Amino acid sequence: MNRKDNMKISVVIPCFNEQEVLPELFLRMQGAAEGWGKDWEIICVDDGSYDNTWNLLCEQHARDPRWIALSFSRNFGHQTAVSAGIFHATGDAVIIVDADLQDPPEEIHRFIGKWQEGYDIVYAIRTHRKEGIFKRLSYWAFYRIMSKMIDFELPLDSGDFCLMDRKIVDILNSLPERNRFVRGLRAWTGFNQTGLIYERQARAAGRAKYNFKKLRRLAIDGVISFSSVPLSLAAHLGLFVSLLSFTGIILLILQRIYESFFESIGLGPKPGFAIIIAILFLGGVQLIYLGVIGQYLGRIYDEVKRRPQWIIKQSLGLASKKTTDEL
Ligand code: UDP
Ligand code: MG
Repeated sequence: MNRKDNMKISVVIPCFNEQEVLPELFLRMQGAAEGWGKDWEIICVDDGSYDNTWNLLCEQHARDPRWIALSFSRNFGHQTAVSAGIFHATGDAVIIVDADLQDPPEEIHRFIGKWQEGYDIVYAIRTHRKEGIFKRLSYWAFYRIMSKMIDFELPLDSGDFCLMDRKIVDILNSLPERNRFVRGLRAWTGFNQTGLIYERQARAAGRAKYNFKKLRRLAIDGVISFSSVPLSLAAHLGLFVSLLSFTGIILLILQRIYESFFESIGLGPKPGFAIIIAILFLGGVQLIYLGVIGQYLGRIYDEVKRRPQWIIKQSLGLASKKTTDEL
């Protein structure tokens, strides 16, 4: 079927304690959706909010049943909320946006336009982040380091705001992994991808729900699920440290043989110093690498347990009655 035909658009919005921003989101998103001239549905995933988010979503569903809502039994995290939304979306194209209006709904028609031109994935590239310097710097460094570690192209500075064709969504839904880094998996699928530049807005209301811990977890998931470079770095670092210690040993022997010469240039032997340095250095490297191996091991353990990624407590207007991610 041609993409110009009347096709359905799904929008997935993860919401965690977003009561301040939801009224404006409803208005602006509804306004934008009415302008697409297409059939649409908007799936809001309440990620275990403890404010008024769920009630607001229920009211919106009562006003317009094309607003679908589901709520998790607890906070499972942004990437899981996005994954659950994608899983239940029924559209021919699925769009992911944040609830806080940092991704303006008014931009979505441009994504749909690109999709109709034949692109399978249209992702947003942020020009100006209206966020603190620390967060901007961390993201900037993360995307650049990450893209060096993987063997497919990861678009720099693009978050989850995107449009995906049904065939991409079907692939993502069929992937077995639990700790999902959606923007990485999306890039990994391949097909026809293109970026659209937009200016990332500041949050319309409320506070950011991503704290440092969640951001760090996202970054580690991103790297570990796509790259084993940190593991192979262990070998390189080990080699480097061994060479360094070997040089140190030779230096110590020379110091003993040519003691007076070394003393004359101020490098006479200091008892115990070399040993302490060596022990600290090796101990540190070993601990770091126990940690790195632990991170991989922990994720392998998560995969092996095969627990569901999310549990749905209640839903409104959802086509399927599945409460977990079982296919
Ligand atoms: N979010 C979520 N679960 C979480 C944290 C965040 O569903 O545990 C949602 C949040 O409601 C928002 C989106 O993910 O719609 C992005 O969160 P936020 O704006 O706090 O992140 P930032 O813009 O700082 O990256
Ligand atoms: Mg935000």
